[in-house]
Amino acid sequence: MRFPDFFKCAKRPIISFEIFPPKTEKALENLLQVIPELIELSPDYITVTYGAMGSTREKTLEIASLIKQHYNMETACHLTCVGASQREIDNILIRIYKAGIQNIVALRGDPPRGERNFNAPADGYSYAYQLVEHIRRFERTFIGQENFFGIAVAGYPEKHIEAPSLEEDILHLKRKVEAGADIVITQLFFNNEFYFNFVTKAKASNISVPIIPGLMPIVSVRQIKRITSMCGATIPPSLQEELEEAIDDDEKASEIGIRQCIKQARELLESGVPGLHFYVLNKSQHISRIMSAIKPYIYPRS
Ligand code: FAD
Repeated sequence: MRFPDFFKCAKRPIISFEIFPPKTEKALENLLQVIPELIELSPDYITVTYGAMGSTREKTLEIASLIKQHYNMETACHLTCVGASQREIDNILIRIYKAGIQNIVALRGDPPRGERNFNAPADGYSYAYQLVEHIRRFERTFIGQENFFGIAVAGYPEKHIEAPSLEEDILHLKRKVEAGADIVITQLFFNNEFYFNFVTKAKASNISVPIIPGLMPIVSVRQIKRITSMCGATIPPSLQEELEEAIDDDEKASEIGIRQCIKQARELLESGVPGLHFYVLNKSQHISRIMSAIKPYIYPRS
């Protein structure tokens, strides 16, 4: 089932989890134990990220295929423009197609660590909209079927870190949607006002596809500080203050993260969002508690 099919006529919010291919064999073993626990929570689909470079890239498709084949759960492969020529992108798309995966999260990717600007690889792309156009072209020429894939693209409620303004970033988001994206999944945020404002501005720019809020439950203070400093998401002062008390205590940080995530998720669900995308960080315990707490908001009559 493709992204747009989930959201078309949905009678309840669509729930998705995002996991990443681990770098070590031990972490992979651990993920393979966590996957059935995540599936037990009945998300609608699971997406698997694409590494900056190197061996974890191979694992994106492997893990997405395993979840789809073994657990009969819909999946999506993330794909970036980093280090890939158009021919290499075609080769990856052929493999995704042959594996029976029907959804792709199409991204530009980040510049290599230490570099400020993203330089397009030889015969490759500079922006995600070009990757979206490429995928739509590939469907016509290789598969012979329009809109074979469901395509998601990234949105940034606090603007993308390189964008001069939110308004300009939204213009570029519009280009991704016009190129053929079916849904937008947002970067994490800790203040729902950013999301509400972003959606209002996107709608005013005639972006009409579903915009799915992305929520990341905090599991470690150091980790969330690293992630937010890289992606430009802000931590509100009150949450920051709470987290300072848990700097060396992941259990405490996790409790704060669960509380924060439930609060945000409930408010978003009450406002009528089309779905929620959780960055679950390859763990299940925290998301299991979050899902229990928000279940009445997802299935109001169950
Ligand atoms: P783009 O949409 O291309 O935008 C990048 C920048 O260029 C923005 O500042 C935009 O405003 C600007 N821009 C766009 N078009 C134009 C134009 N025509 N002219 C001038 N400027 C333009 N990274 C990974 O490496 N692997 C992953 O699996 C991954 N998954 C992600 C999933 C989600 C839901 C999100 C939100 C992010 C993910 N990322 C991932 C991170 C993402 O790759 C980075 O945020 C990256 O820096 C930007 O990617 P993008 O697709 O948004 O790029």
